[in-house]
Amino acid sequence: MPDGNAPEQLRRMLVEELIREGYVKSEKVARALLAVPRELFVPEPYRDLAYEDRPLPIGHGQTISAPSIVGYMIELLDPNIGMRVLEVGAGSGYAAAVLAEIVAPSGAPRDKWGHVYAVEIVEELVERARRNLERAGYADRVTVVVGDGSRGLPDHAPYDRILVSAAAPFIPKPLVNQLRTPGRMVLPVGDYFGQWLYIVTKNERGEVSIWRDIEVLFVPLRVPPDVEPYRPREN
Ligand code: SAH
Repeated sequence: MPDGNAPEQLRRMLVEELIREGYVKSEKVARALLAVPRELFVPEPYRDLAYEDRPLPIGHGQTISAPSIVGYMIELLDPNIGMRVLEVGAGSGYAAAVLAEIVAPSGAPRDKWGHVYAVEIVEELVERARRNLERAGYADRVTVVVGDGSRGLPDHAPYDRILVSAAAPFIPKPLVNQLRTPGRMVLPVGDYFGQWLYIVTKNERGEVSIWRDIEVLFVPLRVPPDVEPYRPREN
C-alpha cells in the first residue's frame, strides 16, 4: 500500500471522498463500502491501486468497476436488510460483497440476513469471485452461479433488487419478470457509443416504471439473440 497507510485508512479516505463528491449519500452504503476490503478483490499486480477511484482489470477483458459507480448504483438500488438480491455480472465479486454487507450485515443476527445471488458468464471469474468472497468473509451470504445472467436466475426468483454490472443493449425481459412486486432494478443500457443507467421499478400492483439517469461506461453484457427486450406497452 502506498504511503505506508493501512487498507482501513485508505478505505476511509476513499469513502469520505465519495461522500464529498455526492456518489454516496446514505449511512448504509457508506458503512458497507467501509466494511468490504476491496484490496482482496483486486488482482495482485494492482493491489496498490485498490483504493483509487478507478476501474481495474480482472482478466478476460473485464474490469472491477470503480468504487464511485458501485456506490452510486447501490444508492439508486436502495437495498435493505433481509432482501434477496440478484447481481448480473459478478466479475471479481466486489459489488456482490458490498450488496451482502447491506442485506446481510456482518453485525446482524443471521435470521435477519437476506442473500445475494451473483451470476457470471466466465467460468474462471466465477472461481475467482468465490475465492475472493470466501477470503473476505462473505461466502455464507453470496452464492456465485456460472451462467448467462441476461436470462436472470429463475431458480431463486423473485428478487427484491436486481443490479446489472454490464451494459445491456436493451432491458432484458426475463429480468423484469424476475423482479418481485414491489421491486427495483438498476442497469446500464446502451453500446460503445453511449450508455445510460436505467432504474426499473415494479410497484405493489406490478406496474413497471422506467427512468433514465446519468451516462456511464461499462463492459458489454453478453445477450444471446433469443433473449427478448422488455416492451413497456405489452405489460
Ligand atoms: N461487479 C463486478 C464487475 C463486473 S464487470 C465487480 O464488482 O467486480 C461485468 C461482468 O459481467 C464481467 O465479469 C463479464 O464477464 C460479466 N458478464 C457479461 N455478460 C454476462 C452475462 N450475460 N451473464 C453474466 N455475466 C456476464
